Amino acid sequence: MIDLEGDKDYLKKITDDPRLVEYYDLFKEVGILEEIDNLNKGIRNLEELLDEAVFLFNKSSIPELVNYVSQKMLSKFIPSYLAFIIQEEDNCCGANIICYKNMKPIETMITIESIDPYKKFFSLSPATIKFDAFRHMVDNEKLSDPFLPLDPELIVPMMGLDGMYGFLVFGKKIMGTDYSQQELNYIDKIMKFASVSLQNNIHYRKATVDSKTKLYNHSFFMRKLEEECARVKRYNSRLSVLIIDIDNFKRFNDTYGHLMGDRILFYISRLIAENIRKEDIAARFGGEEFVIMLVESEESGAFVAAEKLRKIVENFKIKYLNKEVCVTISLGVCTLNKGDEINPNELIRRADVALYKAKETGRNKTAIFDTEMEAEPANKQG
Ligand code: GH3
Ligand code: MG
Ligand code: MG
Repeated sequence: MIDLEGDKDYLKKITDDPRLVEYYDLFKEVGILEEIDNLNKGIRNLEELLDEAVFLFNKSSIPELVNYVSQKMLSKFIPSYLAFIIQEEDNCCGANIICYKNMKPIETMITIESIDPYKKFFSLSPATIKFDAFRHMVDNEKLSDPFLPLDPELIVPMMGLDGMYGFLVFGKKIMGTDYSQQELNYIDKIMKFASVSLQNNIHYRKATVDSKTKLYNHSFFMRKLEEECARVKRYNSRLSVLIIDIDNFKRFNDTYGHLMGDRILFYISRLIAENIRKEDIAARFGGEEFVIMLVESEESGAFVAAEKLRKIVENFKIKYLNKEVCVTISLGVCTLNKGDEINPNELIRRADVALYKAKETGRNKTAIFDTEMEAEPANKQG
C-alpha cells in the first residue's frame, strides 16, 4: 500500500476531484486515504463515496444527519426494518430511537433502559457485527431482546473519538439476500463519515449553546452581532437589540428555590425561542439575562416584539405545590439605524441603559434607549 500521508500531490494525480484535497484532513481522520488506491480502481465508487462524505460533513444538525444516514441505508439496502439508536444530547446514558418499517418512519418499537451497556460492548468490539453474534457475545437477553421485533441482521456502531455515539440496527433485506462484504465496507465508510460529522456537530453545539437554556451563549451572540452590524453598515440597513432581565429573580429563588429558578429560566428561554422570527438570534447573555438580535428591525417593530414577549411571559403560569407561580421581565431596546456609527458593544450598552430605565420605573416594562437617559444618573449623583 502506498503511503499517502501528507501527499496531496499524489491525490491530485489519481483524481481531479478538488474535494479530495479540500477535505484532505477529514478524509485522513476517517481513514479513507488508506483505501483510496483500492477505490480508485472503480472510479465511480470513489466519486459516490466523495459525494456522501462531503454531504455528511456539511450536515448542520444532528436530526438532519440521522435522517440522511437512515434514508441512505434504506434506499441502498431496502431492509424490512431499520432502527437508529443515538445518544441523547444531555443525558449520556439516555437514547433517542428512530425506527423505520418498509422504508417508512414508524412509532418506535424499542425500549432500552440505557445506552451504557452498548457503549461498553462496542468499546471492546468497535465494528459491525451480525446480530446473532452480538446476541451470543453479550449473553444478556435484556440487551439483545429489545431488537428482536426488528428481525435484526446487523448492528453497526457509530464510533467517535470519545466512544460510541449510537448504532444502527438493520433488519433483514426485503429481497432476502445477505449483506455482502462490499456492502458492509460501504456501510462502514458511511458510518465513519457520519460519526466525524456528528462529532463536529456535538463540539460546535457545546461551544455555541448554553446548556441550561439551550439558547445560544454570550460569545456566539457577540460574534453574530458583530457580523450583522458590519452587514448593516455595508448594506445601509438596520437591526435592533433587546436585552431582557427577569424581575426580582433573586426573590423568586429565595421563595421557590434555585431549582425552580432554573426551570423558569428554561421556560422563558422556550417562550423567547418560540416567539421570535427564524432569522432573529436569541441568547442567554448571563445569569437571568437574555438578549435578542432582531435583524432588519426598526425601533417601532422592535418595541412591538418586546412588548409581545413581555406579555407572553407575564401570562405564563407554572405550577408549584398546587399554586400558580409567574414571573415578569423588563426589556431594553436599542436600534442600529442607517448611518449610525455605533459598534456592537455600544449597542448592547445602550440597550442595557434602557433596561435599567425599565427597572427603575417599575419593572415589567419595555424602554427604548434615548440619549437623555444617559444624563439622568449623572444628575442624580450631582
Ligand atoms: P431585578 O428586578 O433588579 O433584576 O432584580 P433581580 O433580583 O432579578 O436582580 P439581581 O441581579 O439582584 O439578581 C439576579 C438573580 O438571578 C440572582 C441570581 O441568584 C439569579 N440567577 C442568576 N443565574 C441563575 C441561574 O442560572 N439559576 C437560578 N436559579 N438563578 C440564577
Ligand atoms: Mg440581572
Ligand atoms: Mg433580574
